[in-house]
Amino acid sequence: MMNEIEVPVLIAGGSLVGLTTSMLLGHHGIRSLAVEYHRGTAIHPRAAQMTQRSMEILRGIGIEKVVCERSAQQFVQDGGVIGVETLAGGVTQAWIANLNEGIRDVSPSERVFLSQNSLEPILEKRAHELGASLLFSTQVVSTEQDAEGVTAELRHRDTGEMTRVRARYLIAADGSHSPIRERLGVAMRGHPTFSRSITIYFRANLRPYLEGKIVAVVYVNNDRLRGFFRFEKPFDSGFLVVNTHGHPASPDSDCSSELDDARAKEFLHAALGADIPVEVDNVMRWNARAEYVEHMRIGRVFIAGDAAHTMPPNGGWGGNTGIQDAHNLAWKLAYVLSGRAGPALLDSYEAERGPVGALATEQAYTRYVVRTGPHLGMAGTQPLVSDLNVELGYIYRSPVIVPDGQDDGTVHMNPREMRGRPGTRAPHVWLRLKGERVSTLDLPGKAFRLLAGPNAQRVCAEAEKAAQLAGVELTVHRIGAGGLEDPDGIFCAAYGIEPSGCVLVRPDDFVAWRARTGAQASAAELGEVFARVLARGAGAPRA
Ligand SMILES: Cc1cc2nc3c(=O)[nH]c(=O)nc-3n(C[C@H](O)[C@H](O)[C@H](O)COP(=O)(O)OP(=O)(O)OC[C@H]3O[C@@H](n4cnc5c(N)ncnc54)[C@H](O)[C@@H]3O)c2cc1C
Repeated sequence: MMNEIEVPVLIAGGSLVGLTTSMLLGHHGIRSLAVEYHRGTAIHPRAAQMTQRSMEILRGIGIEKVVCERSAQQFVQDGGVIGVETLAGGVTQAWIANLNEGIRDVSPSERVFLSQNSLEPILEKRAHELGASLLFSTQVVSTEQDAEGVTAELRHRDTGEMTRVRARYLIAADGSHSPIRERLGVAMRGHPTFSRSITIYFRANLRPYLEGKIVAVVYVNNDRLRGFFRFEKPFDSGFLVVNTHGHPASPDSDCSSELDDARAKEFLHAALGADIPVEVDNVMRWNARAEYVEHMRIGRVFIAGDAAHTMPPNGGWGGNTGIQDAHNLAWKLAYVLSGRAGPALLDSYEAERGPVGALATEQAYTRYVVRTGPHLGMAGTQPLVSDLNVELGYIYRSPVIVPDGQDDGTVHMNPREMRGRPGTRAPHVWLRLKGERVSTLDLPGKAFRLLAGPNAQRVCAEAEKAAQLAGVELTVHRIGAGGLEDPDGIFCAAYGIEPSGCVLVRPDDFVAWRARTGAQASAAELGEVFARVLARGAGAPRA
């Protein structure tokens, strides 16, 4: 007899994105089961650079502090991203001189480095606390969907025991080779494999080159190889990625064939520029590609993380983009599963995340070509966009976002210029709530929030009336009410509203609707806004 399990959401893959998704679903009160083939959380460091947006998401779920503490133990804080010919030869280029310099005003959170094998246990613990289930050593071997849900078969790696799972929805967070995406026949666009790359994990005394320096990532570009180092404290270990070797004008992009310990050491010495003793701990082989899916939703299956967009690590965005996918999807699934939103809300996942995943992937590819692979040429690359735009300034467009101005079609902008524009992340402003300093992003309420100017009494009252009538959970925050103060007097300008105006912020911190002045909004109009942003079309079937 096969075991049978029923769960609202099944997640294939329990690494960075699978764990994040299960944690965020738990935050919204939805049970999930994540299934991971490996025996535990990640063993390789891989992702480490966390963007401000990812840190805001972790802040919202209560684990930002512990991530920062672990980061301080592991990495030099604010460590920059530089270029060298060899580590011993010194700096030739500063791609990012200091990780947080010049960007602290846009977020309550800072960029940090924490490697994936240290982050994942924190995510796993929080997911468990929030009621998520996780099965390691278990493979999703088949999935089938019908009009009501998804049926999957799981096999335990050691015992061979089979389990059948019935779920309403399935999330494919099963990595760049995504068997689920392949079975569904979802095509990918972009730049297929351009390097058979390697990551060499090694030990050596690196203190003479790194102690006292604010450095975390070091690009290496010399006659022998191209790639990058990443270093942790106390500078007795690190990893070297090698993307190409041989002469820069006609390099060999296959670094993984014929690789043995001696060759790995040769690469290390060529990048270090010093004949110091090195020990190779491990080598990981991977294909550098920059590809993104044509569709992120096929019926009841959602594709997230590397399964949806596989990008080279240049920029440090693969994991971050997956965290954002999870954050966009989790509340939508929670609302649809609980009947608070119409099923069409789920269509907005692909509409909103598709272009943004493509942007991050193309920008990572441009950085790969500029920093590591000039032999590929700039033809077919997107012009370089600032890191901040990619990380915090991405723009969503979908039928559940109500535009309020002319749409120039851009997918990104400087976060300092977003000013509450619908489809952008609600701007960060430091406020005081009952005497405590809080960011606009920290204001209580994990459902919808109405952030309003000091003279917005009327629209706030209308919104509360409309929310009650529509059965929408809404927390209203008006400057000057309930102990909320705007000590610097910048809230309205930051949100592009008059003192009588307001913005409606979704559970994922994105602005869904904005009334520049209170005159624009009656309870009836607000009722229509709620119906639109929750995709509550007349006669919409239950999910
Ligand atoms: C050297 C390097 C440095 C990087 N640095 C950064 C960085 O600084 N910042 C950043 O954001 N990103 C970085 N990345 C990218 C980052 O590691 C990935 O984007 C991230 O791991 C994607 O997470 P994921 O959960 O989508 O996929 P994965 O981590 O690939 O996880 C997918 C999981 O699904 C499991 N799985 C697959 N099929 C099945 C199945 N049938 N049944 C059960 N389980 C299954 C796999 O075992 C795997 O654990 C880096 C990558 C590399 C290689």
